[in-house]
Amino acid sequence: MVSTHPAGVQDSGSKYLPQESISNTSLSPNQELLPLTATINGHDHLEIGGCDVTTLVQQFGSPLYILDEQTLRIACRQYRDSFKRYYQGESQVLYASKAWSCLSVCAIAASEGLGIDVVSGGELYTALNAGVNPDKIYFHGNNKSRQELIFAIESGCIIVVDNWHELRTLVEIAGGVREEDTETRGHALASSSPVRIMLRLTPGIECHTHEYIRTGHLDSKFGFDPNQLDDLFTFVSQQSVINCVGLHAHIGSQIFERQPHQDLAAVMVQWMSKATRYGLAIKELNVGGGLGIKYTESDDPPSIEEWVKPICEVIQEVCTAQNLPLPKLLSEPGRSLIGSACVTAYSIGSSKVIPETRTYVAVDGGMSDNPRPITYQSVYRTVVANRMSAPLTQTVTIAGKHCESGDIVIKDAQVPKTEPGDILVVMATGAYNYSMASNYNRLPRPAAVIVANGEANLILQRETYQDLIRQDCLPERLKS
Ligand SMILES: *Cc1c(COP(=O)(O)O)cnc(C)c1O
Repeated sequence: MVSTHPAGVQDSGSKYLPQESISNTSLSPNQELLPLTATINGHDHLEIGGCDVTTLVQQFGSPLYILDEQTLRIACRQYRDSFKRYYQGESQVLYASKAWSCLSVCAIAASEGLGIDVVSGGELYTALNAGVNPDKIYFHGNNKSRQELIFAIESGCIIVVDNWHELRTLVEIAGGVREEDTETRGHALASSSPVRIMLRLTPGIECHTHEYIRTGHLDSKFGFDPNQLDDLFTFVSQQSVINCVGLHAHIGSQIFERQPHQDLAAVMVQWMSKATRYGLAIKELNVGGGLGIKYTESDDPPSIEEWVKPICEVIQEVCTAQNLPLPKLLSEPGRSLIGSACVTAYSIGSSKVIPETRTYVAVDGGMSDNPRPITYQSVYRTVVANRMSAPLTQTVTIAGKHCESGDIVIKDAQVPKTEPGDILVVMATGAYNYSMASNYNRLPRPAAVIVANGEANLILQRETYQDLIRQDCLPERLKS
């Protein structure tokens, strides 16, 4: 029998630390539970980016999202460099900003050479204000409004068209906007060149992930039905106001298997080949995102490099076999870029012991700052940041503070003995936490800090009570 621990040594929070030092960047962030810079300092406290997590909470309050800049940058570079290494054509990695859309995160992704994928006018506005070049912004979504389409056209980003209604609306607007502009300005706009679009297609590929985050199977609300390719390519090839530069597909999220994306790559080259026969010069293929991350020790996703390599190989093989030029290869990871770069720090408050049943330990946040457990039954792991080496002697349920029995952050968490005021850290909260946060029960949204080299900077201010009523209106007749 091989035991993972010497006799007498119990598990502690330190078991979640990365097993290599940050100076060795061979670790793939999506395979780690804690950010790559995580260590334990002399006070037995968790330190991230050279900052003591307990001190950060004293300084910025709790709950607090703590984003490790280095982990995010390393993930960006691993994607970028893997495509460079394994793909002979041009490539472009896009950050799927819906995972966490804010100015600083978009700016960091852009500074690493990534483009940004947005799914709403609000995300587009955020990316533009972060200084992202619109040539590298791709606008997704299955029901973009007219206003969003006009905003997208005027911004100069690339629009990923999802369905017939959008395609027809876009053709109409692209023609109309230009006429109006010409009338009012007396000259044609610079944007009188055709609007660049991609077409999103549903590949009919199954993958094993939660039903809500699976998008590639045929019964999905996203994308054109691949059985309509003839009609679609015919229609698109006849429009002078749009220029179809590429094809897009996204098959789902939190995927650990590699086969679905390899199958997808092959299918997409077939689509590209077909489009060529309709006179459409498809220059770009976007294979979407979806690489999973480690939320618990039993999660075993491939590394970023292991995910990128076979996709590149399949596209190159199939293109060579069919004598097709290599397309520019795009991918748009969200979760695997930012998920592991962030933790959420909470303060422990009350607890409730139900003999022989369960102990609840409550924290000062919950489903409003992390709706994933209640939405997707997502499982997280935790450490107590001010007792990193303490043995994990109890199994408790970490409860949120919302008026909802289902507001459970972690069921059956292994923790050391805790006291009110201890700092409980939930790991891998960078993706779909802040971006899905709400003000349920009128909790102000938490602050977020970015940490690097012992320095911490606010990237999102903590909301105030005034923020909570900022949009409230009290009609005169209701005033007392
Ligand atoms: C959500 C989404 C992504 C990112 O997915 P991840 O699983 O976070 O990598 C990429 N592309 C599209 C179109 C998406 O909807």
